[in-house]
Amino acid sequence: MRAIVAGAGPAGFATAKWLNDRGYEVVLLERRGVPGGKVSAWRDADGDWVESGLHVFFGAYHNLLNFLAECDLNDCFDWKPAEMVFIAPGHALAPIRFVPGLPAPLNGLAGVAISPLMSTADKLRMGLGLLRPIFGSQAYIDQQDNQTYAAWHLRHGMGTRTLDDVMHTMALALNFQRADRVSAKLVLTALLHFAQETNAPKMGLVKGSPHERLWAPLITKLEARGVRVVLGRGVEEIMYDPLDNRVTGFALDDGSTITGDVYVSAMPVHNLRKRLPAPMKALEPFANLRYLKGQPVVTAVLYFDKMVTEVNNLMFSADTCLSVYADLPRVSPDYHTGRGSIVELVVAPAEQLINAPDAVVLETVLNDFYRLHPVARTARLLKQHIVRIPNSVYSARPGVDRYRPDQATPVPNFFLAGDYTRQEFMASIEGAIRSARRAVDRIDQAVVRQPELVVTAP
Ligand SMILES: Cc1cc2nc3c(=O)[nH]c(=O)nc-3n(C[C@H](O)[C@H](O)[C@H](O)COP(=O)(O)OP(=O)(O)OC[C@H]3O[C@@H](n4cnc5c(N)ncnc54)[C@H](O)[C@@H]3O)c2cc1C
Repeated sequence: MRAIVAGAGPAGFATAKWLNDRGYEVVLLERRGVPGGKVSAWRDADGDWVESGLHVFFGAYHNLLNFLAECDLNDCFDWKPAEMVFIAPGHALAPIRFVPGLPAPLNGLAGVAISPLMSTADKLRMGLGLLRPIFGSQAYIDQQDNQTYAAWHLRHGMGTRTLDDVMHTMALALNFQRADRVSAKLVLTALLHFAQETNAPKMGLVKGSPHERLWAPLITKLEARGVRVVLGRGVEEIMYDPLDNRVTGFALDDGSTITGDVYVSAMPVHNLRKRLPAPMKALEPFANLRYLKGQPVVTAVLYFDKMVTEVNNLMFSADTCLSVYADLPRVSPDYHTGRGSIVELVVAPAEQLINAPDAVVLETVLNDFYRLHPVARTARLLKQHIVRIPNSVYSARPGVDRYRPDQATPVPNFFLAGDYTRQEFMASIEGAIRSARRAVDRIDQAVVRQPELVVTAP
């Protein structure tokens, strides 16, 4: 049996690996010349790595960690203390640190209790307000999808101070938009994971570029097992026979066609919509995909001639355009070049900046960065990269969750994988891997239930 998987991001790679494990002949197609999707990296003209975005991996990412272990890649992370280091102008560091040695949720509650970031009254309000999600269930959290997190927070008596100082920042890190734009379900799901599992908040950063540490070795392993990974070849149209209700092939952007028995889209949702032919687009759940809009985000990478930060972890800031950032030579051993800081910053919300010229983005970013790290003014900015992703993860606005599609579709030989599809996690790398697991399970079920629908291609 032959499977064609479109999209070599985390979801596509995991789908390809697990179908190969089941004995499928697998072709993995990637439109770009570089693998990894939103977790990709490429070299600039000087040979320095540029990443599509700063990525942090959590102890809660069990499916991802197991997948990497299966591929002998579980040594790719540098694990950091479980803490949120907030930087503010004129402040030293003010972390919220999960207290080591205590079980969840006490490690988080104790961390909030001793944090210098909040007043005692705010800590009490926060502790009481979060009792319900901490000791609640996913079912309760699912019911909160119709309101914003900010509305939920205020309704539970936690006040505007903690919203402004902490929770907007958390929403921005999760979905690149503030807490008054994201669904309460998104933030509460993250809190539930942290509250239920002691190791969930443990944070890892890739030891170097995701390309060298993850995707290149993974491709070598997959190819050695017979998977064909084709870079620089995109799906132009999904070919569909409405009478048979089957996908008959992928028409590719070089004019050729590729056929198989099973087809998987691991493309982002906005790309999938463009590739669907009209008769498929009219079917549910494809018609509802229009509600899943991509959230814009900008990444700025600043190269200085000397070190300008001291933190060996992620840094968060409230009330600036820099939602989360890290100094790569501090956090990742492969970036220890002995030269200066390489600061990678996630700029969000990015609606205003996504179409602005580089000079405007740079000025905005530097204004905030210099306020947070005045010492950087004494350093020389050697160069910078601005990476724009107009449609990154789907925008988790209130009421949108119900439109996330299952991995099985009404077309029996066509399946979906990707962080936007239905799975227990939010749009994240772990969500993408979970979606791949579910897609492969759905393929197994389809083959058992309806073997005649999946026939060997000529
Ligand atoms: C700036 C930034 C920071 C992030 N930080 C984190 C983080 O810290 N932790 C975390 O868990 N998540 C983070 N994420 C989210 C994470 O990157 C995504 O959830 C994850 O990459 C989704 O994986 P995916 O495989 O579903 O999609 P993608 O990674 O988007 O991969 C889809 C692939 O499909 C390809 N494709 C598109 N069209 C076609 C076509 N026509 N034919 C063939 N291929 C096609 C694309 O080129 C891409 O390679 C971040 C995202 C961004 C943008």
